[in-house]
Amino acid sequence: MKPFSSLKKSDFEKIKLISFDRDGVAAKEGTTVIEKGDTLTMKSSPLKPHIVEKLKKLKKRFHVNISSGKSLLYLTRNYQDILWENVSLQGEVGIFTLLSGRVYQHHQFTKEELEKSRKIYLGLKNLQRENPNLIGFEPKQFLITLHCQKRDLKVEKLIKKIDPQKTFNCFWSGEAYDISPKANTKGTAIKHLCRLLNLDISQVLAVGNDPNDKDLLSSAGIGVTTSPESVPAPYHTEKKQELGGEELIDILLSLV
Ligand SMILES: [Mg+2]
Repeated sequence: MKPFSSLKKSDFEKIKLISFDRDGVAAKEGTTVIEKGDTLTMKSSPLKPHIVEKLKKLKKRFHVNISSGKSLLYLTRNYQDILWENVSLQGEVGIFTLLSGRVYQHHQFTKEELEKSRKIYLGLKNLQRENPNLIGFEPKQFLITLHCQKRDLKVEKLIKKIDPQKTFNCFWSGEAYDISPKANTKGTAIKHLCRLLNLDISQVLAVGNDPNDKDLLSSAGIGVTTSPESVPAPYHTEKKQELGGEELIDILLSLV
Protein backbone atom coordinates (compact mmCIF):
# COMPACT_ATOMS: atom_id res chain seq x y z
CA MET A 1 0.00 0.00 0.00
CA LYS A 2 1.44 3.39 -1.03
CA PRO A 3 0.35 6.93 -0.11
CA PHE A 4 -1.89 8.53 -2.73
CA SER A 5 0.34 11.63 -2.63
CA SER A 6 3.21 9.56 -4.14
CA LEU A 7 1.39 9.49 -7.52
CA LYS A 8 2.53 11.94 -10.20
CA LYS A 9 0.61 13.98 -12.76
CA SER A 10 1.49 11.47 -15.50
CA ASP A 11 -0.19 8.66 -13.50
CA PHE A 12 -3.57 10.40 -14.00
CA GLU A 13 -3.28 10.92 -17.77
CA LYS A 14 -5.39 7.84 -18.58
CA ILE A 15 -7.93 8.47 -15.77
CA LYS A 16 -11.35 9.65 -17.03
CA LEU A 17 -13.67 8.81 -14.14
CA ILE A 18 -13.39 9.40 -10.38
CA SER A 19 -15.75 7.30 -8.25
CA PHE A 20 -16.38 8.33 -4.64
CA ASP A 21 -18.00 6.41 -1.85
CA ARG A 22 -20.27 8.85 0.00
CA ASP A 23 -20.40 8.09 3.72
CA GLY A 24 -17.07 8.64 5.44
CA VAL A 25 -15.33 9.64 2.19
CA ALA A 26 -17.19 12.53 0.48
CA ALA A 27 -19.51 13.31 3.43
CA LYS A 28 -19.51 12.65 7.16
CA GLU A 29 -20.78 9.26 8.30
CA GLY A 30 -23.85 8.90 10.48
CA THR A 31 -27.50 8.50 9.51
CA THR A 32 -30.16 8.56 12.21
CA VAL A 33 -33.41 6.75 11.56
CA ILE A 34 -36.33 6.93 13.97
CA GLU A 35 -39.40 4.81 13.26
CA LYS A 36 -42.43 5.39 15.48
CA GLY A 37 -45.60 3.66 14.32
CA ASP A 38 -46.24 4.95 10.80
CA THR A 39 -43.85 7.91 11.13
CA LEU A 40 -40.31 7.66 9.84
CA THR A 41 -37.72 10.36 10.53
CA MET A 42 -34.33 10.24 8.82
CA LYS A 43 -31.42 12.58 9.38
CA SER A 44 -27.97 12.43 7.82
CA SER A 45 -24.95 14.68 7.34
CA PRO A 46 -25.38 17.08 4.43
CA LEU A 47 -22.73 17.63 1.79
CA LYS A 48 -20.53 20.58 2.82
CA PRO A 49 -20.75 23.57 0.40
CA HIS A 50 -16.96 23.76 -0.03
CA ILE A 51 -16.91 20.06 -1.10
CA VAL A 52 -19.61 20.87 -3.68
CA GLU A 53 -17.39 23.66 -5.06
CA LYS A 54 -14.41 21.30 -5.30
CA LEU A 55 -16.50 18.62 -7.03
CA LYS A 56 -17.67 21.26 -9.56
CA LYS A 57 -14.01 21.98 -10.37
CA LEU A 58 -13.16 18.29 -10.56
CA LYS A 59 -15.97 17.49 -13.02
CA LYS A 60 -14.51 19.95 -15.54
CA ARG A 61 -11.68 17.45 -16.03
CA PHE A 62 -13.17 14.06 -14.97
CA HIS A 63 -16.52 12.31 -14.92
CA VAL A 64 -17.53 12.24 -11.24
CA ASN A 65 -19.44 9.23 -9.87
CA ILE A 66 -20.88 8.79 -6.37
CA SER A 67 -21.30 5.12 -5.39
CA SER A 68 -23.29 4.63 -2.21
CA GLY A 69 -25.67 2.43 -0.25
CA LYS A 70 -28.10 5.36 -0.04
CA SER A 71 -31.20 5.50 -2.24
CA LEU A 72 -31.03 7.31 -5.59
CA LEU A 73 -33.77 9.66 -4.40
CA TYR A 74 -31.65 10.70 -1.41
CA LEU A 75 -28.46 10.99 -3.51
CA THR A 76 -30.24 13.09 -6.16
CA ARG A 77 -31.33 15.62 -3.52
CA ASN A 78 -27.93 15.49 -1.83
CA TYR A 79 -25.92 16.09 -5.01
CA GLN A 80 -28.38 18.29 -6.95
CA ASP A 81 -25.89 21.17 -7.10
CA ILE A 82 -23.42 19.17 -9.21
CA LEU A 83 -25.93 17.42 -11.54
CA TRP A 84 -26.25 16.63 -14.44
CA GLU A 85 -23.31 17.04 -16.75
CA ASN A 86 -20.32 14.74 -16.20
CA VAL A 87 -21.86 13.30 -13.03
CA SER A 88 -23.49 9.97 -12.22
CA LEU A 89 -25.00 8.60 -9.01
CA GLN A 90 -25.04 4.92 -8.06
CA GLY A 91 -27.44 3.98 -5.30
CA GLU A 92 -28.34 0.98 -3.13
CA VAL A 93 -24.81 -0.48 -3.39
CA GLY A 94 -24.85 -0.45 -7.17
CA ILE A 95 -28.36 -1.72 -7.97
CA PHE A 96 -29.12 1.59 -9.75
CA THR A 97 -27.25 4.23 -11.73
CA LEU A 98 -28.61 7.70 -12.49
CA LEU A 99 -26.92 9.18 -15.54
CA SER A 100 -28.05 12.20 -17.59
CA GLY A 101 -31.53 12.10 -16.04
CA ARG A 102 -32.04 8.42 -16.74
CA VAL A 103 -32.19 5.59 -14.20
CA TYR A 104 -30.55 2.25 -15.07
CA GLN A 105 -31.32 -0.85 -13.03
CA HIS A 106 -28.33 -3.21 -13.16
CA HIS A 107 -29.66 -6.12 -11.18
CA GLN A 108 -32.72 -7.96 -12.45
CA PHE A 109 -34.12 -9.73 -9.38
CA THR A 110 -35.24 -13.30 -9.93
CA LYS A 111 -38.54 -14.54 -8.53
CA GLU A 112 -36.62 -16.46 -5.85
CA GLU A 113 -34.60 -13.38 -4.87
CA LEU A 114 -37.73 -11.22 -4.60
CA GLU A 115 -39.43 -13.86 -2.46
CA LYS A 116 -36.36 -14.23 -0.23
CA SER A 117 -36.05 -10.47 0.06
CA ARG A 118 -39.68 -10.23 1.19
CA LYS A 119 -39.19 -13.01 3.74
CA ILE A 120 -36.11 -11.28 5.13
CA TYR A 121 -37.92 -7.92 5.40
CA LEU A 122 -40.98 -9.42 7.11
CA GLY A 123 -38.78 -11.51 9.41
CA LEU A 124 -36.79 -8.45 10.46
CA LYS A 125 -39.99 -6.41 10.92
CA ASN A 126 -41.23 -9.13 13.25
CA LEU A 127 -37.94 -9.19 15.17
CA GLN A 128 -38.07 -5.39 15.47
CA ARG A 129 -41.33 -5.51 17.45
CA GLU A 130 -39.66 -7.06 20.49
CA ASN A 131 -36.14 -5.71 20.04
CA PRO A 132 -35.46 -2.00 20.76
CA ASN A 133 -31.93 -2.39 19.34
CA LEU A 134 -33.45 -2.49 15.83
CA ILE A 135 -34.26 1.18 15.30
CA GLY A 136 -35.75 1.35 11.83
CA PHE A 137 -35.59 0.71 8.08
CA GLU A 138 -34.11 3.35 5.77
CA PRO A 139 -36.43 3.87 2.77
CA LYS A 140 -34.98 2.09 -0.28
CA GLN A 141 -36.34 0.40 -3.40
CA PHE A 142 -34.66 -3.02 -3.09
CA LEU A 143 -31.75 -2.86 -0.65
CA ILE A 144 -32.84 -3.70 2.89
CA THR A 145 -31.15 -1.29 5.30
CA LEU A 146 -31.93 -1.86 8.96
CA HIS A 147 -30.46 0.66 11.40
CA CYS A 148 -29.46 -0.78 14.79
CA GLN A 149 -27.90 0.73 17.90
CA LYS A 150 -25.31 -2.04 17.77
CA ARG A 151 -24.52 -5.24 15.89
CA ASP A 152 -27.25 -7.81 16.55
CA LEU A 153 -26.65 -11.58 16.37
CA LYS A 154 -30.41 -12.22 16.17
CA VAL A 155 -30.50 -10.34 12.84
CA GLU A 156 -27.57 -12.37 11.48
CA LYS A 157 -29.12 -15.64 12.68
CA LEU A 158 -32.42 -14.81 10.97
CA ILE A 159 -30.69 -14.06 7.65
CA LYS A 160 -28.76 -17.37 7.87
CA LYS A 161 -32.03 -19.22 8.53
CA ILE A 162 -33.87 -17.65 5.56
CA ASP A 163 -30.81 -17.75 3.27
CA PRO A 164 -28.77 -20.88 4.19
CA GLN A 165 -27.23 -20.91 0.67
CA LYS A 166 -25.77 -17.44 1.43
CA THR A 167 -26.89 -15.91 -1.87
CA PHE A 168 -27.43 -12.58 -0.09
CA ASN A 169 -24.85 -10.25 1.44
CA CYS A 170 -25.54 -9.13 4.99
CA PHE A 171 -23.11 -6.29 5.60
CA TRP A 172 -22.81 -4.49 8.95
CA SER A 173 -21.71 -0.89 8.33
CA GLY A 174 -21.30 0.12 11.95
CA GLU A 175 -24.78 1.69 12.07
CA ALA A 176 -26.96 -0.53 9.88
CA TYR A 177 -27.26 -3.86 8.10
CA ASP A 178 -27.31 -3.69 4.29
CA ILE A 179 -28.90 -6.82 2.81
CA SER A 180 -29.09 -7.58 -0.94
CA PRO A 181 -28.25 -10.34 -3.46
CA LYS A 182 -24.53 -11.11 -3.68
CA ALA A 183 -24.52 -10.81 -7.49
CA ASN A 184 -24.86 -7.08 -7.03
CA THR A 185 -21.88 -5.02 -5.78
CA LYS A 186 -20.26 -1.62 -6.25
CA GLY A 187 -17.62 -3.45 -8.35
CA THR A 188 -20.14 -4.85 -10.84
CA ALA A 189 -21.93 -1.48 -10.95
CA ILE A 190 -18.82 0.46 -11.96
CA LYS A 191 -18.32 -1.97 -14.85
CA HIS A 192 -21.90 -1.26 -16.01
CA LEU A 193 -21.20 2.48 -15.80
CA CYS A 194 -17.97 2.10 -17.79
CA ARG A 195 -19.95 0.33 -20.52
CA LEU A 196 -22.50 3.19 -20.58
CA LEU A 197 -19.73 5.79 -20.85
CA ASN A 198 -17.58 3.76 -23.24
CA LEU A 199 -14.69 3.61 -20.81
CA ASP A 200 -12.39 0.87 -19.60
CA ILE A 201 -12.18 0.03 -15.88
CA SER A 202 -8.45 0.92 -16.06
CA GLN A 203 -9.55 4.55 -16.63
CA VAL A 204 -11.30 4.66 -13.25
CA LEU A 205 -9.94 6.04 -10.01
CA ALA A 206 -12.09 4.80 -7.10
CA VAL A 207 -11.99 5.85 -3.47
CA GLY A 208 -13.75 4.15 -0.55
CA ASN A 209 -13.55 3.32 3.15
CA ASP A 210 -15.66 0.22 3.86
CA PRO A 211 -15.49 -3.54 3.16
CA ASN A 212 -18.34 -3.11 0.63
CA ASP A 213 -15.96 -0.96 -1.46
CA LYS A 214 -13.40 -3.79 -1.69
CA ASP A 215 -14.17 -5.18 -5.17
CA LEU A 216 -14.55 -1.65 -6.55
CA LEU A 217 -11.13 -0.59 -5.22
CA SER A 218 -9.38 -3.75 -6.41
CA SER A 219 -10.80 -3.61 -9.97
CA ALA A 220 -10.31 0.15 -10.63
CA GLY A 221 -7.25 1.46 -12.50
CA ILE A 222 -6.29 3.32 -9.32
CA GLY A 223 -7.90 2.15 -6.05
CA VAL A 224 -7.63 4.37 -2.98
CA THR A 225 -8.71 3.64 0.58
CA THR A 226 -9.28 6.38 3.16
CA SER A 227 -9.44 3.73 5.88
CA PRO A 228 -6.75 1.05 5.42
CA GLU A 229 -7.79 -0.61 8.70
CA SER A 230 -11.28 -1.35 7.23
CA VAL A 231 -10.54 -2.00 3.55
CA PRO A 232 -7.27 -2.50 1.67
CA ALA A 233 -6.37 -0.81 -1.65
CA PRO A 234 -3.16 -0.18 -3.61
CA TYR A 235 -3.16 3.47 -2.41
CA HIS A 236 -4.24 5.22 0.77
CA THR A 237 -4.90 8.77 1.89
CA GLU A 238 -3.01 10.06 4.93
CA LYS A 239 -5.76 11.49 7.16
CA LYS A 240 -4.53 15.04 6.52
CA GLN A 241 -8.15 16.18 6.35
CA GLU A 242 -11.29 15.11 8.19
CA LEU A 243 -12.60 13.53 4.98
CA GLY A 244 -10.25 11.35 2.91
CA GLY A 245 -12.27 12.25 -0.20
CA GLU A 246 -11.39 15.92 0.24
CA GLU A 247 -7.69 15.14 0.66
CA LEU A 248 -7.83 13.19 -2.61
CA ILE A 249 -9.70 15.99 -4.47
CA ASP A 250 -7.14 18.56 -3.29
CA ILE A 251 -4.23 16.47 -4.58
CA LEU A 252 -5.98 15.87 -7.93
CA LEU A 253 -6.89 19.55 -8.38
CA SER A 254 -3.32 20.62 -7.62
CA LEU A 255 -1.98 18.26 -10.32
CA VAL A 256 -4.44 18.58 -13.21
MG1 LIG B 1 -18.39 4.51 3.31
